Amino acid sequence: MELRNYVGGSWVTSSAPTFVSANPMNGETVATAPASDAADVDAAVRAAREAVDSRVWSDLRAADRAIALNALADALQARERDAGELIAREMGKPIRIARGREVGGAIDRLRYFAGAARALDGRFVGAPPSSLWDMEIPEPVGVAALIIPWNDPIDLLIRKLGAALAAGCAVVIKPSELTPASTAMVVELADELGVFPSGVLNMVHGPGSPTGEALVDHPQVDKVAFTGSTATGITIMRRAAERLARVSMECGGKAPALVFADADLTRALDALTYGAFMYSGQSCTACTRLIVADEVYDEVVDGIVERSRAMPTGDPMDPAMLIGPMASQGQYDKARRFIEVARADGAKVLLDGEAESQDGLFLAPTILAEVPLTSAVVQEEVFGPVLVVHRVADEAEAVAIANATRFGLGASVWTGDASRSLRVARALDFADVWVNGYYLRHAETTFGGRHQSGLGRELGIHGIEEYVSWKRVCIDTRTEPFHLKTWFEEGQDFRG
Ligand code: NAD
Repeated sequence: MELRNYVGGSWVTSSAPTFVSANPMNGETVATAPASDAADVDAAVRAAREAVDSRVWSDLRAADRAIALNALADALQARERDAGELIAREMGKPIRIARGREVGGAIDRLRYFAGAARALDGRFVGAPPSSLWDMEIPEPVGVAALIIPWNDPIDLLIRKLGAALAAGCAVVIKPSELTPASTAMVVELADELGVFPSGVLNMVHGPGSPTGEALVDHPQVDKVAFTGSTATGITIMRRAAERLARVSMECGGKAPALVFADADLTRALDALTYGAFMYSGQSCTACTRLIVADEVYDEVVDGIVERSRAMPTGDPMDPAMLIGPMASQGQYDKARRFIEVARADGAKVLLDGEAESQDGLFLAPTILAEVPLTSAVVQEEVFGPVLVVHRVADEAEAVAIANATRFGLGASVWTGDASRSLRVARALDFADVWVNGYYLRHAETTFGGRHQSGLGRELGIHGIEEYVSWKRVCIDTRTEPFHLKTWFEEGQDFRG
């Protein structure tokens, strides 16, 4: 499959060198795409700028924008299986997760954004004198650059694209260089539908440098929406700061799961095994730190080791599998380096994933205990199938260990005590806390990170507001003469 850029409603070729996305299962080429240069990026941004300036999309009735977004949702639904297969081939995510959770979730989110486009309201402010009509009006932020990672290449696009289009923006999408074909499929569907005016959706393929950097640096990009690693997020924020471009950042995580003695342990263990190791732990909210009350420590450790060892692992195209190969050689090597460091730091290996792995880029679940809190495997994001277990004496220690991280994305609490669940949920310094469940996510509720997990929000109404620039308009309906003295020296408007 030869991929091209999409600019101003047409597929365009680039003179830049190409790169390959390969199937991590067997090394086969899935797609080739251009490593777009600054000129390619400039063309895409200019097309988006033109669409913004002409208001061809933002001036449509919200109802018509909703029809277009729903049409895209229908088209994706009709190709749900193909989309799932493409993700499985490009990054090794097992097909049942790729198709159900990722593509199914993306379709639902698109439909949410279609409805929300019509609910995006301004505000009439009643507090000033009644002779003033004071209003806050949502306007689109303008040209939004959408920079997408490889681990959920369709869902993480839709969270941004749906919100940006609902708000009336034009976009330039940059897919990950590992999964260009999966993300591009959504743009292909949009092109076939013909419901989005030319220039509203644009896409440039390529790696972080030069393509991503040229996009972030482009003076006509008003907002950068990024999902990816914290290190890249920091680089992008620095560059965007040069011209005060708006940013939203969805970055790394180090999710703790706090398991108390009063929890339903069977339910907790079933969910946490899935939460830690589903598609090799390559999720920003994957459970990476299991914090267990002393009373049930042995039972929990035995239970999770037994369940993790039995996770169905193999060809991602087989619907029985929950773990496939890791997405790339780079990811595989990185995860193994963390395990090596943990061993050197004195970790006790409860489940040796390296010893149990199949050939190729497969890395089986690895569970470590007795690791110092300062170890890199406890403090850094592995983004692989590696779980660290901590034993704690009480609730206070559990919360303290959970919060001892620079990340603040997802966390979960497992307890049968309602008061404790509320107390601990409040004490956890994380943006997304699940109680007695895992991967609970809905289009209607907002998602994002604290601290070095990011800033800004996706999904829910706050997710759309990331693409809104609020304009305040105040109309003075008084007819009496304007006296500078009464207005400014006597502060008339404040005294009534
Ligand atoms: P990454 O940071 O390597 O790359 C993400 C995207 O940024 C890619 O498209 C890449 O080409 C681009 N990029 C890289 N350098 C750039 C630069 N200098 N300028 C502009 N663009 C640049 O991340 P990844 O490996 O693709 O994804 C995995 C990471 O994403 C993990 O850290 C994971 O936690 C995070 N993630 C976060 C969320 C969330 O919602 N918080 C969701 C999924 C993944």
